[in-house]
Amino acid sequence: MGHKKRHAGNKETVTSGSTGKAVVSGAGRGRILSIIGILLGAVTLIGLFIWGRGGGTIETAWVSGVAKGYNIVLITMDTTRADHIGCYGRERAETPIIDRLAREGIRFEDAVSPVPMTLPSHSSILTGLDPISHGVRSNGTYSLKDEHATLAEILRDEGYETGGFVACFVLNARFGLNQGFDVYNDEVEAAPDAMVGGLTSERDAEQVSNAAVSWLQQRDKKKPFFMWAHFYDPHEPHELPAAYVSRFKDHVYDGEIAFVDAQIGRILDTLTSQGVNQQTIVIVTSDHGESQGEHNELTHTRFIYEATQHVPLILWSPSLWDGGVVVDDVVVGVVDIVPTVLDLLGVESEERFDGISLRRSRENPDRVVYIETMANYLDNGWAPLFGMRRHLDKYILAPKQEYYDLERDPHELTNRFGARSKRISASVQTLSEALAKRRESDVDIADMATNVEDLEPEARQKLEALGYLGGDGPVATEGELQDPKDMMIVWQMVQDANKKSRHGQRKEALSQLLEAKVLAPHDHSIDRHLGILYMRLDRLAEAEESLERYLKVRSTNSSIHALIAQIMIKQKRFMEAKERLKTAYELSPENGVVLVAMGDLLAVVGNINKAQAYYEQALKVDPYRMEKATSDRLNKLQQIRNAMGQ
Ligand SMILES: [Zn+2]
Repeated sequence: MGHKKRHAGNKETVTSGSTGKAVVSGAGRGRILSIIGILLGAVTLIGLFIWGRGGGTIETAWVSGVAKGYNIVLITMDTTRADHIGCYGRERAETPIIDRLAREGIRFEDAVSPVPMTLPSHSSILTGLDPISHGVRSNGTYSLKDEHATLAEILRDEGYETGGFVACFVLNARFGLNQGFDVYNDEVEAAPDAMVGGLTSERDAEQVSNAAVSWLQQRDKKKPFFMWAHFYDPHEPHELPAAYVSRFKDHVYDGEIAFVDAQIGRILDTLTSQGVNQQTIVIVTSDHGESQGEHNELTHTRFIYEATQHVPLILWSPSLWDGGVVVDDVVVGVVDIVPTVLDLLGVESEERFDGISLRRSRENPDRVVYIETMANYLDNGWAPLFGMRRHLDKYILAPKQEYYDLERDPHELTNRFGARSKRISASVQTLSEALAKRRESDVDIADMATNVEDLEPEARQKLEALGYLGGDGPVATEGELQDPKDMMIVWQMVQDANKKSRHGQRKEALSQLLEAKVLAPHDHSIDRHLGILYMRLDRLAEAEESLERYLKVRSTNSSIHALIAQIMIKQKRFMEAKERLKTAYELSPENGVVLVAMGDLLAVVGNINKAQAYYEQALKVDPYRMEKATSDRLNKLQQIRNAMGQ
């Protein structure tokens, strides 16, 4: 079975189940094709037989190119823990659609996300690269560079029609995942934090599936297609659609996953009604999980424990697989998705991947999968976390290193690092050496912190002129940074304070943030939160001081420069505001927050026409987040014009 065998063309495809029975579709129904189908079915049968038994060396579970010309549907459920899905053991889950896909397809029990953040993890899902290779280390401040090929780009070159449907601003086209998509639908609803540079704007699963289904109905039926649908509902804030409230009010997270499951069902129904489900491969996965209080983390981003790194991964295609296959004896990664799809389709690519085709997942039972989170370092100035995951154990590099035996301790309650056991010290050595080797090609974390490497010369000049690039950034070396494990109490205080602030309890929020600042004086994220809160309390001098402290470390954050400019406008320091906004604009000309502030400055000094032009520009380049802010302002300008009799 080592040689490659290819299927017939996509429009006269012979599809076959592992029972050996052939299903012939398209125009070319005929005896010869049926015979080929039976032969291929037998090949698939042997592969599945070997794979389904578990253990041992597996050559192949399908032949490369078996699904040539098939459509690909990639579904990513944001923030979805594997163990909250029925087929992964959650008893109270209502996930009948995903459970059926698993039953009829192949389910990978031990699948890992490389990073607990939406943009970096989706960058891995769509490129087959881990974060060291694709370079997207956090949300909001990074974007996937053109030099990396997404699955959409590779498949579009193969003649596929491509459509992406995403549910949150974090995956907005500006962050680079739109590469290769003919249609990239990233319409979200503006969130209240949009005007302070927030990233939380989203839309619900029904809106995503509406957009995806209507694209499926309108697309060019002569071409195969690649569709990616992203669902954000399980991410906080936790809000259920009305129809789910009574059933799930005590376990809202499960309700949100149930809602997404039903919406995935609508996409599958569309495939069936269009008669293309037999020539389609559906992949269901998630970008990361949710800690739900494990290790004192409420949500995700700060740790790389299983609660956030263990994700579902299911492949389904009724004409390729008869189901009942669970791969539970090897670790696989979401980085394997792109190489797997290309292998199934028989597409040869020049690209290099960190993942491997899942067909070959059993070749190396000692496989290690890289994991990281840079959020601690980039957002708070604490130590980043790096790790290596094997099938039954895990090593985490932190100021206080960690090692877990996942077979005996699946929830990572007992850190076995330093335990007096030859087996453990040998494992730690293997994993830490593999990690050190993987990190050899990584950038220095001190360079990562300044985040000025890729700045345009004009932006760099302006920051220098304002005194930001004088070397005041985080100078701590990796060994001197605080361990995130020690900082979670502070982190929870900050999150709780932000929640209070959102709910109008601003005085309580302020005293909590000030308390957190005393406990973690070097955590610059607290300065940003304090600055925004002081602005809401109209304590402008303190707001400016806090935001400036933050910019000492994060000088490239254009939204924060724009907020400082807003303070200056309120204090009638117009020339300073103008300089500041020029800098912010150089940093990110497509940030609506900056353009709106430029409009505000011009409106205040009486240049109504130019102000209007900036508001319109903001709406054009940053439409979903800026819709409300710009329409309020444009209305005001109209009122002024009316009053002036123009
Ligand atoms: Zn996410």
